[in-house]
Amino acid sequence: MENAGSPEAEVVRRKIFVKVGNWFSKRGLFPRKKEVVRRKIFVKGIVQGVGFRPFVCQLAEDLGLFGYVFNDARGVTIEIEGTPQDVKKFREKLEADKPRLAVIRLISVEEIPPLGSTTFDIHESPKGGERTALVSPDADVCDACKDEVLKSDFEKEASVKRRYHYPFTNCTHCGPRFTIIQDIPYDRPMTTMRVFPMCSDCLHEYKDLKDRRFHAQPIACSVCGPHVRLVDSTGQLVECADPILETARLLAAGKIIAIKAIGGYNLACDAFNTEAVQILRERKDRDAKPFALLVADIEIAKQLCEIEDEEAKLLQAWRKPIVLLKKRADCDVAPGVAPSYNTLGIMLAYTPLMHIYLDAFAHIRGRERPAVLVMTSGNIKGEPIAYKDADARKRLFPIADATLWHNREIHMRCDDSVTRFAVGGEQIFRYSRGYAPEPLEVSFEFPVPLLACGALNKNTFCMGKMGQIEQGGKQAFISQHIGDLDDMETQTYFEEAVKHFQFLFGIRPDVVVHDLHPEYYTTHYAYKLGIPTMGVQHHHAHIASVLAEHGLKEQIIGIAADGTGYGCDGAFWGCEVMKADMLGFERLAHSRLSRRGIR
Ligand SMILES: [Zn+2]
Ligand SMILES: [Zn+2]
Repeated sequence: MENAGSPEAEVVRRKIFVKVGNWFSKRGLFPRKKEVVRRKIFVKGIVQGVGFRPFVCQLAEDLGLFGYVFNDARGVTIEIEGTPQDVKKFREKLEADKPRLAVIRLISVEEIPPLGSTTFDIHESPKGGERTALVSPDADVCDACKDEVLKSDFEKEASVKRRYHYPFTNCTHCGPRFTIIQDIPYDRPMTTMRVFPMCSDCLHEYKDLKDRRFHAQPIACSVCGPHVRLVDSTGQLVECADPILETARLLAAGKIIAIKAIGGYNLACDAFNTEAVQILRERKDRDAKPFALLVADIEIAKQLCEIEDEEAKLLQAWRKPIVLLKKRADCDVAPGVAPSYNTLGIMLAYTPLMHIYLDAFAHIRGRERPAVLVMTSGNIKGEPIAYKDADARKRLFPIADATLWHNREIHMRCDDSVTRFAVGGEQIFRYSRGYAPEPLEVSFEFPVPLLACGALNKNTFCMGKMGQIEQGGKQAFISQHIGDLDDMETQTYFEEAVKHFQFLFGIRPDVVVHDLHPEYYTTHYAYKLGIPTMGVQHHHAHIASVLAEHGLKEQIIGIAADGTGYGCDGAFWGCEVMKADMLGFERLAHSRLSRRGIR
């Protein structure tokens, strides 16, 4: 395979093409079109692992254009050749018709001499180079894949039947990304799918430009891909014909089941079973915090909550977060789901596995009540979500009556995201699966590459990349939700996630930013790194992050109605009113708690 990244090979190739082209042209054997142009197009953003190369190939073919496309560590490079009109159309459609999960941050176009190409190819990804390509968050299953999985009477060819009730079905427009990627560029050998060699049918689909699984890196089917197993609370395999159907039966019988999902293990039970919900609460040592609910579709969600159009959009988007919604007066889920709350956190099924067991669960339960499951993180209070199988065995076997396990490894854990629709738009409470690691574009350039460690509870960290957007700068890479950093397990998770982000996005921080609190784990961690540190007051950090999110540089009046945070005077501050900008603040007013300065 040609190394598309080698400039020497490129020059030789071009010379040969031009010579051969001239030879044919002189003899009238190779009549060129009247005018042919060639462009080198570079695309930056979330363009890897989202079907961008197949889309480019298809677009080139539709317009009768030639050239090639390849991924590298920075993004996607395309060379395209044809009439000026068709090349212009190509450039327009590149943005307008982009695939479902693609996010384009930058397109640059360079004029280069035509080479007389007669094919359009996908070239192999060159290794190395500066890392500025973005990694896609994990996406829900698309409608086409869902139909393949659920509809047994669906008009199918023999090859498609490999995916009826197959829980790891995906295509270039759907499925896991961030949680299975170990390195970039995003290709199958760089993911946890590398241990599953494709069967001949999958390989055929993978290579077929016309197939929606063309170059879908996590492609799998029941012949060659990962599989599920059901084990009991002692780790013994549960003998049954269909582990997913058996899981649904156990759920309907009031059992608590641990289920391995995309970014970690969940704990599930029947949301209408008061006793099961109570037992789950006790075993998880969970206080009054509400549990999230999982349903198959928006119609079932509407039986539980009052849902406005904008909320329905959030629920149904490919990110599939938990959306906080107003509980209907006649909603009779078990009281233990969200004690004394008038809202429920609902998410729609986002994996084929979820659709299959919800379907079976609904079938077993009959029409009496809708199929609604409590779906909560697989952990005990204070610990991070379990995602490694050995760890899940240790921590979740005492909680769950059985575990629905599978052998696709999760490389990076990622909890479900929590969001709601408020006045003015989406308000994200927990930025995690489906959102991370998509960066926030900021209005300023970072003066140095930096790591901001975040505070102690509900931690997320952030990395800033130096330079202009072309070099991957002006972007804040916010981590997935890490959790409360007062136990060792979560601290290890924090450190692993920091390393993974540094590695994936090629950021080596020169400065580390920490909360002013001298005893926070994150402050100790910052000092341990041995690079210059910078302390930021807790409430000012909250206000500055809102400024960054909305691209504001001016001075504003900000109110941070937070719990407590370490103040500049060494006292604990509470609710703060500040005149602030990115660089500093003036403390205008504060709550009584702050005045007392509790230490
Ligand atoms: Zn799909
Ligand atoms: Zn296969």
